[in-house]
Amino acid sequence: MKAPANTPWAKERQQSWDANKPATVYVTPETLPDGIPCSAVTVILRTKGCHWWWSSGCTFCGYFNDTRDDVTSENLHSQWELAKQKYDNFAEQKMVKIYTSGSLLEDREIPLDFQETVLRDCYELGKELIVESRCEQLTKEKLLWATSINPTFTVAIGLEAYDDEVLRFHINKGFSTRAWDRAIENLRNFNIRIKTYLMFKPPFMSERDALDHGVRWIKDVAERSDEISVNPMNIQRGTVIDRLHRNNEYRPPWLWSLVEMIKQAHPFIYPEGGVNGSPDQVCRLIIHPTAGGKIRGAHNCGSCDKFVVAAIERYAVSGDLREFEGLSCGCESIWREELALESALPLPLGISQSRRGSRVENLRSL
Ligand code: SF4
Ligand SMILES: [Zn+2]
Repeated sequence: MKAPANTPWAKERQQSWDANKPATVYVTPETLPDGIPCSAVTVILRTKGCHWWWSSGCTFCGYFNDTRDDVTSENLHSQWELAKQKYDNFAEQKMVKIYTSGSLLEDREIPLDFQETVLRDCYELGKELIVESRCEQLTKEKLLWATSINPTFTVAIGLEAYDDEVLRFHINKGFSTRAWDRAIENLRNFNIRIKTYLMFKPPFMSERDALDHGVRWIKDVAERSDEISVNPMNIQRGTVIDRLHRNNEYRPPWLWSLVEMIKQAHPFIYPEGGVNGSPDQVCRLIIHPTAGGKIRGAHNCGSCDKFVVAAIERYAVSGDLREFEGLSCGCESIWREELALESALPLPLGISQSRRGSRVENLRSL
C-alpha cells in the first residue's frame, strides 16, 4: 500500500523548502520527568523523512509533506544552529524535543555525525532531550553508542496500537508488537525514558471498536511506558486516510469517545484513584486532540467542541476526572446511539456521520 506522495503538488511542495532552515521551532509549556513544570522547545527539522515511508508508509502519515530528499549533514547542522540561535542556546528551556519526520537514530535518514551533534549538545547544555524513533533502530549496539554520548534521554515511539492485526491491516506500520516489546526491553536496560504514542481510531475501524481498543491498548502499555500520548486521528493531506475521508468513508473520532476512553482508562493509570503526581500513578497519560473541533480532527457537533477539547487538555495536566464534570450537549445522545448501534449490528467500518459537507449529499454518496 502506498499513499500518493509522488503527485505533482507534493513534489513541487517538497522542492520549495529551504534545506538550511528547520521546518519550525517553537516553545510550549511542558512537565519534566519529576513533575516540575518547565518550558520546552520543539525543533522540527527538515529531513529526508522516514525510511519506512520511502518503501511503503503508515496510512495516516503526512510527514512526507515536510521533507526534502536531498538534505545533507551540513543542511541539518545549519538548521540546528538556527534553532539554537532563535532561543539563545535554549537558555530558558529545560526540555528539547527533536522531531525529524522519522527516526533521529536511523542512519539511513540522519547522518551519524548529526545524531551525535544533537545528543552531545543537549547533554552539554544540560537539557532533557526527547527524540522520536521507530522500533528497529533501538538495538543494544545503537543504544550503547547513544548513551555513551548522552546518558539520559527519552525515546518516543509511534506504536499506535498494541495489536498486530491493527498494526498490519489498519495502519500498515511495518513492525509488530514483538518489535516494540524488544525495543522497550533494550530501552529499559539502558535506563532511557519511554514515551508511547497510541493512535485513536485508525482507518477501517468503527467508533465503538476505537473506544474499546483504545482503552485496552492503554492498559497493555501503561506499565512499560513512562508516558502515553494518545493521538486522536487528524487527517493529513495526501494520505490514505485523507482519501477515505474525502469519500465519506471515515469520520475522525468524536470528542465524547475521548472523554469516555479517559474515564475507562483512568483506573489503569491511577489504580488507587489518584491524580497526576499521586504515588499510585503508573505513568503519565496525555491526550492532545490536534485540530480538535475541526472537521479534519476529533470533533463533536460544532457548538460544544471547544469546551470538551479544553477539558481534555486540562485532564492531560491534572489527571483529574473532575475536569469532565458538568460537560453535556445534545449531541452526546447521537454519539451514544451510534456506539450502541455499532455494538449491536455487524458494521465493521461504523456508521458515524461526519459534519463534513451537507447531510443530503453525504446520504446520496452512501
Ligand atoms: S513510521 Fe512514523 S514517520 Fe514513518 S511513515 Fe509511519 S508514522 Fe510516518
Ligand atoms: Zn455538541
